[in-house]
Amino acid sequence: MSGRPVTGLPRIDLLTPRQQMAMNCARCAQHLGMSGRVWGEVRHQGLLFRLWICVPDCSTPVPGDPA
Ligand SMILES: [Zn+2]
Repeated sequence: MSGRPVTGLPRIDLLTPRQQMAMNCARCAQHLGMSGRVWGEVRHQGLLFRLWICVPDCSTPVPGDPA
């Protein structure tokens, strides 16, 4: 197994099911509604997850996020 993590993207297994299903922002966990943009794709346990985040950016501060 070669688990090469994508730089900057969170671990899928640390996200909530709603974040995994792109219903909530993968970064700040807010409900995305009709907006959102693709952050990146992460492969986990043979499945490819497409992560979505807020547009233009997350409105709530994210702990540990340098931006
Ligand atoms: Zn967000």
